[in-house]
Amino acid sequence: MYDKKKFGNLEISKKIFNAVSEMGFEAPTPIQSEAIPLLLEGKDVIGQAQTGTGKTAAFGIPIIEMLNPRFRGVQALVLTPTRELAIQVAEEITKIAKYKETRALAIYGGQSIDRQILALKRGVQIVVGTPGRILDHLRRKTLRLHNLSFMVLDEADEMLDMGFIEDIETILKETPETKQTLLFSATMPREIQVLARKYLKNPELLSVSKDELTVPKIEQVFYEVKEFNKLEGLCRVLDTSEINLAIIFCRTKRGVDELVAGLEARGYEADGLHGDLTQAQRNRVMKKFREGNVEILVATDVAARGLDIDNVSHVINYDLPQDPESYVHRIGRTGRAGKSGIAVSFVIPKEYRLLRLIEKTINTRIRRLKLPSFEDVFERQREVIIEKLSETIEQGKLSHYRAIIEEMGSTHDTVDIAAAALRLAFDIEGSQDFSEGDNGAEFGNTGAEPGMVRLFMSIGRSDDVRPQDIVKTIAEEAGIPGKVIGAIKIFDRFTFVEVPQDAAEKVLYSMHKNVIKGKRVHVEPAKARNR
Ligand code: AMP
Repeated sequence: MYDKKKFGNLEISKKIFNAVSEMGFEAPTPIQSEAIPLLLEGKDVIGQAQTGTGKTAAFGIPIIEMLNPRFRGVQALVLTPTRELAIQVAEEITKIAKYKETRALAIYGGQSIDRQILALKRGVQIVVGTPGRILDHLRRKTLRLHNLSFMVLDEADEMLDMGFIEDIETILKETPETKQTLLFSATMPREIQVLARKYLKNPELLSVSKDELTVPKIEQVFYEVKEFNKLEGLCRVLDTSEINLAIIFCRTKRGVDELVAGLEARGYEADGLHGDLTQAQRNRVMKKFREGNVEILVATDVAARGLDIDNVSHVINYDLPQDPESYVHRIGRTGRAGKSGIAVSFVIPKEYRLLRLIEKTINTRIRRLKLPSFEDVFERQREVIIEKLSETIEQGKLSHYRAIIEEMGSTHDTVDIAAAALRLAFDIEGSQDFSEGDNGAEFGNTGAEPGMVRLFMSIGRSDDVRPQDIVKTIAEEAGIPGKVIGAIKIFDRFTFVEVPQDAAEKVLYSMHKNVIKGKRVHVEPAKARNR
């Protein structure tokens, strides 16, 4: 029962270790390394950390480690500013507690209070909620905090900005003196300091970024992407860049595997490197990459530690690193031995604060670029073709092929013959569509009717889904009339549905990772070639 496992500098129970390994974590993030031992010792902690630094697990792991799973009462309360964060935190805690008997519940305004009361009655140990709704439950006495051992104020500065400070104080007054209190905040305005002084006992102050870091002279750029079109964005960048060798960083092992699969499915040669590989497998991957037999190496931070390769032209942060130090480590893999290098980061909107922190710490502005358009991709393909053709002409040895052209020249136009040869050689899929303008510029050609965008959904006949289920859910979730939804094609394990171009983003946002018929679905713009 007291089986412990080493997780970086930490010792955690085997059950939690197994759960976080499955989540793809290989080592603690800096805030976790610092906060977890202190929390396990029973200290109050103030963590200056933003979203993206791994702060949820920094408090989630020790709380799950310490609370009593056999006792069904509420032992930990996490206050968050928004319902989205409450759901996200409860989900993350549920994953970490996968092999424990611990239950977490998100409670927020806008959801039926009766359902929440029922869920609370069934017994949960960790409640994550927004202050207003938590207060509501306290007043109704449907939530009691007298057994509370842990109180977490997450994104305290955001809660302050949203005017929750009085609610928070009222809630804190209902909690037992003996509890341990943790406060996480990206910034430390005076009101937060006052609150901390009043309610935390001799807190330890942790800050993820202490020193300013110096960065080698590398061109640094970033692209803003949405979670669902990250891969598409990456492909466009790869297609328009002159890549020698590229290392792409992902946050988790699973992220590495998924990205390698995604890239391979799109015709790129990529290999993955993470902690689950044996030394022999690792050596094989490294050899291929070093010798240029694969151009793209996808890795976690841990796996890339100690990699020493010259000639890496691009370091790509597919996931932003969780702290400025890792950013510096990562991008230091390019621009070696006096060569130039470029560091590219993909940033989703909620990571802007983390990006700003990185910029501040390294004292450099990271330049924002617009994602290459399809025209850019096509233009780059043209350049590559012209380069390759010129090289081939220079090399000569063409007499065999010239003879064929001369023979065909009597019946066909020479330019047509050359064009057909290019098409055969380069097989530029969809190039026609690039040049002739496509539907839904932002999504590329999804193979939909004009004015529509075709979406791929990872649910199908084998999940018992019918067209009316798809129409109803999309209409409800995205708030669009059912009748504007276009062709629906249901296959065994997936479905294609066409939605109007101007509603496509809304549908993607509301449906991706949403639940239909009890199944969480993955939604993304379809590829024209899947038609
Ligand atoms: P947070 O700052 O809590 O919002 O976490 C940001 C993201 O990092 C989440 O997707 C976490 O699942 C992930 N994460 C947290 N800890 C680790 C870790 N030790 N290794 C890899 N990913 C992590």
